[in-house]
Amino acid sequence: MIFRDEALEYHRRGRAGKLEVIPSKPCLTQHDLALAYSPGVAEPCREIHRSPDDVYLYTGKGNLVAVVTNGTAVLGLGPLGPLASKPVMEGKGVLFKRFADIDVFDIELNAPTAEEVIQACQLLEPTFGGINLEDIAAPDCFHIEERLRETLTIPVFHDDQHGTAIISGAALLNACELAGKRLEDIKLVMNGAGAASIACAKFYLTLGVDPDNLLLCDSKGVLYKGREDLMPGRPRYNEYKAQFIRPTRLRTLPEALAGADAFCGLSVANVVTPDMVRSMNDNPIIFALANPDPEITYPDALAARPDVIMATGRSDYPNQVNNVLGFPFIFRGALDVRARAINEAMKVAAAQALAALAKEGVPESVCRAYGMERIEFGREYLIPKPFDPQVLLEVTTAVAKAAGESGVARVPIRDFRAYREQLER
Ligand code: NAP
Ligand code: MG
Repeated sequence: MIFRDEALEYHRRGRAGKLEVIPSKPCLTQHDLALAYSPGVAEPCREIHRSPDDVYLYTGKGNLVAVVTNGTAVLGLGPLGPLASKPVMEGKGVLFKRFADIDVFDIELNAPTAEEVIQACQLLEPTFGGINLEDIAAPDCFHIEERLRETLTIPVFHDDQHGTAIISGAALLNACELAGKRLEDIKLVMNGAGAASIACAKFYLTLGVDPDNLLLCDSKGVLYKGREDLMPGRPRYNEYKAQFIRPTRLRTLPEALAGADAFCGLSVANVVTPDMVRSMNDNPIIFALANPDPEITYPDALAARPDVIMATGRSDYPNQVNNVLGFPFIFRGALDVRARAINEAMKVAAAQALAALAKEGVPESVCRAYGMERIEFGREYLIPKPFDPQVLLEVTTAVAKAAGESGVARVPIRDFRAYREQLER
């Protein structure tokens, strides 16, 4: 109750909400006015009309991201609609600014259908350097992002999908290392077949998981070949789930988990029991990422057996999988090279950079911020902490580099030493 009051007061106090617009040029004198607006403003207009890329020289486009939603899947709260989603989108803007100095306009659309969201984003393209899709329900979110990636020349990134995939992917790389297992060999069971889970499953395959070793479950159990309700034409059919249907005799989550090496839950609270954890292979990897309450709690999983390697979405236990570790830095890197897209190579680079950074140790200042004396790579520290300033340097640089190497950077960075120094400032 106290926290509720505090949160409401936080949003209400002073100027309502969490964002404001601040001019980046002086406007104090009549002369300033003549430069900022008519007649001076006509000069950059003419330049951009002649040479469209000059928009990046004379306007804020290159540092401006649209956080776009239609409010159909707000946090874990459901389809609250565009208006009630506004605090979330403003919050995203705060994080973009705080962690990567990126400016955000939050755009809440009265657009219940995929086609409307697609069209709105297409119409808005000139304004922005990139689009962060947010809290749009599956399966529309897949279709919307696909169409926008095909038709727009600025990066489009649905954070609930790929942010989660990248951060948990980094954790999976390091968890496998600690478990002494190769990613290529692990038997992985995922629970949930929605926006986050489908994207994570695809990304884990890109990282090296063997498609034959991967099973997905939804609210009706394992996605197995022959399941009636998943057949084309049935109401529950969607082409995205269809990619993960496997020939198997396993039908339920407990059956699937027996002997598995890893579990990744992006579903609902309390669906994994201590017995299921005990039925898994040694050093089981358990990512229970349902928010706010995980598929099994951290204490319950550890009590079931001491050798679990565990992550959740929560900040009150070790290994929080939280998207703030990704999107600010991924967009920073993409914007800085004027990337046409955020592609697989950039996502893999971000995950690998996060995984590598976790092994580098943590600066004292960061340890203090988390009230700890030392933080070292291990079962309780699989991925970096968001307040570690090295994350900006490492992830952003890795993403910018991958954009250049994979050919989507319109302005590739040549001198990475100078770029890192600029980021440090
Ligand atoms: P979503 O698109 O609505 O997908 C939810 C999925 O969970 C659906 O496939 C649904 O099955 C399945 N499900 C529901 N009840 C189930 C049950 N009892 N057993 C197995 N599967 C069940 O939601 P989402 O955006 O992917 O998010 C899913 C969860 O992950 C939420 O709790 C969200 O907070 C969490 N999440 C966490 C992070 C993080 O970083 N920690 C990031 C993203 C999401 P049907 O398809 O059969 O309906
Ligand atoms: Mg979200």
